Amino acid sequence: MIGWITLGALRPTHAAQPQLSAQLVLVHGKIITVDAADSVAQAIAIRDGKILRVGTDAEILALVDPHTEVIDLKGRTATPGLIDTHAHIASGGLSELYEVPLGDATNVAEVTARVKAAVALLKPGQWVQGSGWDEGKLDERRYLTASDLIAVAPNNPVWLEHTTGHYGVANDYALRLAHIDAQTPDPSAGTIDKDAHGNPSGVMKEAAQELVTALIPPPTAEQRRKGIEHILEVMHREGMTAVKDPDIDKETWDAYRAVLDEGRLDAHICVLWHGGSTLAAAQAALTLFQAAPRLPQSLGDGRLLSCGVKIFMDGSGGARTAWLYKDWNKNSTGVDAGNVGYPTTDPQVYRQQVALMNRAGVPVGTHAIGDRAIDWVVDTYLQVLREQPTHGLRHSIIHANVPTDHAIETMAMLQKQYDAGYPELQAPFLWWIGDTYAANFGPARSARLIPLQTYLKHGVIWGGGSDYSVTPLPARYGLWSSVVRQTLKSSYGAQPFGTAEAVDIHTVLRSYTAWAARQLFLEQRIGSLEAGKDADIAVWDHDPYTIAPAQLRDLRCQLTVFQGKIAFRQ
Ligand SMILES: [Zn+2]
Repeated sequence: MIGWITLGALRPTHAAQPQLSAQLVLVHGKIITVDAADSVAQAIAIRDGKILRVGTDAEILALVDPHTEVIDLKGRTATPGLIDTHAHIASGGLSELYEVPLGDATNVAEVTARVKAAVALLKPGQWVQGSGWDEGKLDERRYLTASDLIAVAPNNPVWLEHTTGHYGVANDYALRLAHIDAQTPDPSAGTIDKDAHGNPSGVMKEAAQELVTALIPPPTAEQRRKGIEHILEVMHREGMTAVKDPDIDKETWDAYRAVLDEGRLDAHICVLWHGGSTLAAAQAALTLFQAAPRLPQSLGDGRLLSCGVKIFMDGSGGARTAWLYKDWNKNSTGVDAGNVGYPTTDPQVYRQQVALMNRAGVPVGTHAIGDRAIDWVVDTYLQVLREQPTHGLRHSIIHANVPTDHAIETMAMLQKQYDAGYPELQAPFLWWIGDTYAANFGPARSARLIPLQTYLKHGVIWGGGSDYSVTPLPARYGLWSSVVRQTLKSSYGAQPFGTAEAVDIHTVLRSYTAWAARQLFLEQRIGSLEAGKDADIAVWDHDPYTIAPAQLRDLRCQLTVFQGKIAFRQ
């Protein structure tokens, strides 16, 4: 310790030595900066958590002193730490630790076997929770039902959430606990699915889910903290250093704060508060928002930010509940006659909620999947911004799956005039739930699903993301999906969405870095590797700019630096 104090005392002042030495340098590599010119350098120097300089090996090696840690990249490629603008990491981390994983189940028997194994560890009456199933990935290509679960969990309530989070299946025990039978009416903006005899099938969609999920004991504060710590590790393994976590509650915010107070929140986390579907719920969200530091302020030096409020306009492309102009399809070319989905928030109430937020200077993120929902959202943004012109709230359209021409033109106008109207979209939908999507959207809409090329042509920029745990968290899947547009199982052909709307890797990487940083209100700090910005860096086994597009999915992160500190090293 004495040596350290002596060194500190002898350290020259800034004025005496303008060129400070680096604490960490990465040299002999390819540094993809994602700056405005998309420039590529050889090496990068870091000091006090910030990027000191990006340049040639000679320039960076000149900043090395005996205390500098030097990492030889040996030709490997570094990018800015990847950013996900829409990932439910707090709840996903909890699911990974405490629920039965069903994302890789390929048939109904596999699901029931896993539930049976979970039941064996519990007492009668205790809840079994699972998540991640998707009929598009099951050989049977049908929903799970309560009858699938009778034999394996006769004495325990079971709730298995679909990968989209927009529906799930309860077993008979859980339905009894919730007092749901053939006579139970659908709640507004929700569906209790019925079988051929008019009895509940166990599948509960949208708001109907809460009839069951409200009975499940909430996680403890400790479980919430552990879930966050777990997911931060997953992020770092995947070169990810920032996430917008949408739709959170007070307990989740408190858990983030607790992890921050422990000194373990090694990522930029920006949250959207749950806005609900009534004006009273929006008021409550506004109160929570206003109790947190006001943007651009943050907690923990850019680590925890209160970024706005999330509202749902419609449902899901998996449950065929998203709000469309024309009937949903079934099995691609079939028609789900009479079903155009529905708004999950009354459209007029939604408009009042957004006006309330806009007046208060609060950014809004709205979930909108269907063409009709997206139109309503962008028209609402334009209307409230004309009434109360505000620049830079960056109201977003979450998912924006099948936008009309009108919606895209309005987004372009909103971005230009108000710095608002940004899609926060998830190319991995095309892959992970792509077979279900191809079945439900049908051929005509599929060609227009997640139209990146059209966005680009209209000057619309977007933030990339996963919607984890709807799709897996690693951002490399989004890099790949944006370029390749392939489904997981090729049930309706490998590329039912075509390739006309694909973009190149340079564009995609920007959507997961510089453009994404804007949606976290952190573009001054992160999203590109430039002097003065936070040293958030990912090093990869291959160069994403030069490998074959098919290989993007298999990129392996070898080193992750967060604010100058090594967060992961292979
Ligand atoms: Zn989501």
